[in-house]
Amino acid sequence: MPKNDALGALMAHARETTALEQVAGRLGWDQETVMPRGAAGQRGEELAAIEGVLHARRTDPRLADWLAAAEPPDDAGRAQVAKIRRSHDRARRVPARLAQEIARVTSLSQGLWAEARAQDDVAAFLPTLAEVVRLKREEGEALAGGGCPYDALLDEYEPGMTGAEAAAMFDSLRPRLVALRGRILGATRRPAALSGSFGTEAQLRLSRELATVFGYDFSRGRIDIAVHPFSSGSGNDVRITTRVAESDPFNCFYSTIHEVGHAAYEQNVDPGYLLTPIGGGVSMGVHESQSRIYENQLGRSQAFTGWLLARMREGFGEFGIATPEAFFAAVNRVQPGFIRTEADEVHYNLHIMLRFDLERALIRGELEVGDLDAAWNARFLADFGVAVDRPRHGMLQDVHWSVGLFGYFPTYALGNLYAGCLHSALRADLPDLDARMAAGDVSAATGWLREKVQRHGGLYAPREVIGRACGFEPAAGPLLDYLEAKFGAIYGL
Ligand code: ZN
Repeated sequence: MPKNDALGALMAHARETTALEQVAGRLGWDQETVMPRGAAGQRGEELAAIEGVLHARRTDPRLADWLAAAEPPDDAGRAQVAKIRRSHDRARRVPARLAQEIARVTSLSQGLWAEARAQDDVAAFLPTLAEVVRLKREEGEALAGGGCPYDALLDEYEPGMTGAEAAAMFDSLRPRLVALRGRILGATRRPAALSGSFGTEAQLRLSRELATVFGYDFSRGRIDIAVHPFSSGSGNDVRITTRVAESDPFNCFYSTIHEVGHAAYEQNVDPGYLLTPIGGGVSMGVHESQSRIYENQLGRSQAFTGWLLARMREGFGEFGIATPEAFFAAVNRVQPGFIRTEADEVHYNLHIMLRFDLERALIRGELEVGDLDAAWNARFLADFGVAVDRPRHGMLQDVHWSVGLFGYFPTYALGNLYAGCLHSALRADLPDLDARMAAGDVSAATGWLREKVQRHGGLYAPREVIGRACGFEPAAGPLLDYLEAKFGAIYGL
């Protein structure tokens, strides 16, 4: 076959596979937002069926011939071909039976986890979790081909990263984070928390306004309510969800800004890459760098919280926070708590370290599911100084393991680290950023991120796109410097 025909055939095939992946993703969105409860079993079969189709496409024997003959003319073409080759290689290592079994079991397991969590019933969930772990170990071993199964699973979410590298990253973060946490908890200054009740409708109105301010394109997206906020889709259909608690409007606002960071990344990829292998975010770590910098370095900055305070007063009246300084401190209040998704910037990465160590041990066979609850609680007590009071505050709190996401957690911490690097580079390029953000204008920052990171989609390797954007090699220093400066000022350290 002539080389250009091979490339054409390869890309046509990849576009259709990518389109079907988007369809599968939308079924997942539906399951989390509007699907009737009684449909769970049927949905499991539907997802297994589409996973079977996707697996057959990714292992299509014609791909090997096209890959051998294709000669892409430019960097984008080479990145497309590399992505297709990687997906083909990985899919061929996993038997179709196993891929479908994982899709079916994890779809069902998600519902069982939600019920067990609501009942605080670890025992009810353990048999299903044991099944998921068994399947993911098998998948990891198949993918690793004699190498480390955990590394093979992590590579799915963060191409090129190993468990050893993730461990080294945590070692570089931990000492200064623990020291900072200690100084904050020992400080005499104690920021007040928000109190009162904040109406659902007014929260959702402001949440939509925040989404617009941060550049979310509603003509190609929508916001719904879900138990756990998430972003889903790519290109011209990127949906987000948020949640509302009347006692805690920050939960809604910052969940929304976070998911808008993910969604903006997907909406802002070069339209020429639409429905192709490089037409979405390049890795979960880079994805999380966008959501984190939107949420934290921008959304929780002193400048932007000044504007948010004024908008909240317009929407809710007075709520007992007297000054912009007190409001900034309330938004950034540091509290040891059980829940990862509610953790402040200082505690967040400590939650991730705990999960990383436990899931790595589970996949390596060094920890069994039956011992997970005790291992979680012991580690939480050691790291946070508090005993877990109930399973929904412990090992049942996150959805990830129930849906087979082993190797995913480290990408959250990597995203924080990348966000620290991007923020330091962005500040150097945009000296008047605070003046603009104080007026509710974050477009200079989001425009910088769109130009430097988001539009590239999967063109560059994850670490490379961050390095190119920053002009330096990603490392933990900028994040730690930022946290020490910010919380040092809030707590008077
Ligand atoms: Zn996220």
